[in-house]
Amino acid sequence: MTINCLQSLKPPSDRRIAIHITLPAQRSIRSGHPWLFDNAITKQSHNGNPGDLAILYDHNRKFLAIGIYDPFSPIRVRLLQHRKPAQIDRQWFLSKIETAAKRRKPLATTGTNGYRLVHGENDGLPGLVADFYAEALVVKIYTPAWVPHLANIVPAMTEALPSKRIVLRMSRSCCARPEFLYGLEDGQSLLGPPLETTVIFKENGLLFEADLVKGQKTGFFLDQRENRARVEKLSSGKNVLNVFSYTGGFTLYAARGGASSVTSLDISRTAIAGLKRNIKLNLSNERIANCQYEYITEDAFRAMEQLARTDRKYGMVIIDPPAFAKKREEVTDALKAYSKLVTLGLRLLRKGGVLVMASCSARVKPDEFFRMVFTTAENGGRRLIETERSEHALDHPISFPEGAYLKCLFARG
Ligand code: SAH
Repeated sequence: MTINCLQSLKPPSDRRIAIHITLPAQRSIRSGHPWLFDNAITKQSHNGNPGDLAILYDHNRKFLAIGIYDPFSPIRVRLLQHRKPAQIDRQWFLSKIETAAKRRKPLATTGTNGYRLVHGENDGLPGLVADFYAEALVVKIYTPAWVPHLANIVPAMTEALPSKRIVLRMSRSCCARPEFLYGLEDGQSLLGPPLETTVIFKENGLLFEADLVKGQKTGFFLDQRENRARVEKLSSGKNVLNVFSYTGGFTLYAARGGASSVTSLDISRTAIAGLKRNIKLNLSNERIANCQYEYITEDAFRAMEQLARTDRKYGMVIIDPPAFAKKREEVTDALKAYSKLVTLGLRLLRKGGVLVMASCSARVKPDEFFRMVFTTAENGGRRLIETERSEHALDHPISFPEGAYLKCLFARG
């Protein structure tokens, strides 16, 4: 199997960029933080291209860290190694990826072959995630700074975790810099032939398809696996409303848990079509075959409002919206949107039913999110009794404060 087109990518410059930084940034980097922001730079040897290696120094010209440079991002340097210098080569990447793979070993016994292998900064590779689906790996880069290093990373990945195929996905900000992508395209195969179909993988014994080339994120929201398993345990005999269902992760678990019906709601037609196929894949399970399904392809706020007007009530309401706050300035509006969803969700929840409310906005801190849910309920005259609050699964480790993005509340209301 040959690795496609990576040899023609321009390697990083041999000339490393020397960067001096402010005292507060020195403290932050010393504590192991993976980002250096542009406004913390006091002196820089020269400008570089995305992916050139940058070395950070303190005010005594002492080495602090080494990382990859991105002239277009406010996160000017994403740090790879702190404290002591390193040769950033294939061997260096291999050791990071092997450590990450070892961390995920316990998943092998759970009927799961779709999981996150590399969780960006939290596994030491800031701005890069790698998700494994059965036999295919999706490498998603969030900065063009990774492009010059792919020729080292991709072979290291195949060595650490044999896969038949590697698909490259790139964030919007990455695609916006075609001059530094050297012809690479979102969704192209870096290893193996182009992917023309979806891939089927297993999560806790359930089968799901994922569109690795065009699907949202890398094809599936692998971070919700454990929350889905929690839903399965709580859904017996209930009619369930799954809001922001995407391709039905929560829907299938609720059905396997014995839900009498599941209504799945998502604005995306493609997501609902995928959801229907995912149900078909699992019909050998009797409970999944016996569950009643309803689909609503619409804006969640509007559809929930309409459902509430018809006086529909559910025994469980799951709300897992997309990230509402990508920037700090968006947090207030995000909290308002979450609060609106809680209000609508509670109007649709039967007394004593289960509310599952998730947020994946890193900018919204867990405490303020959970507080918002309770305050909203109280203001609406509804008492919520918390049964559980969950954060990250083992394949989505957290190694720095901004890495804690996912939170989910389970409550009876
Ligand atoms: N719960 C899902 C993941 C949800 S991701 C899972 O377990 O896999 C967020 C989903 O919200 C996406 O599928 C997206 O299509 C959908 N979405 C975004 N905006 C929406 C809106 N206004 N109304 C309904 N769905 C929306």
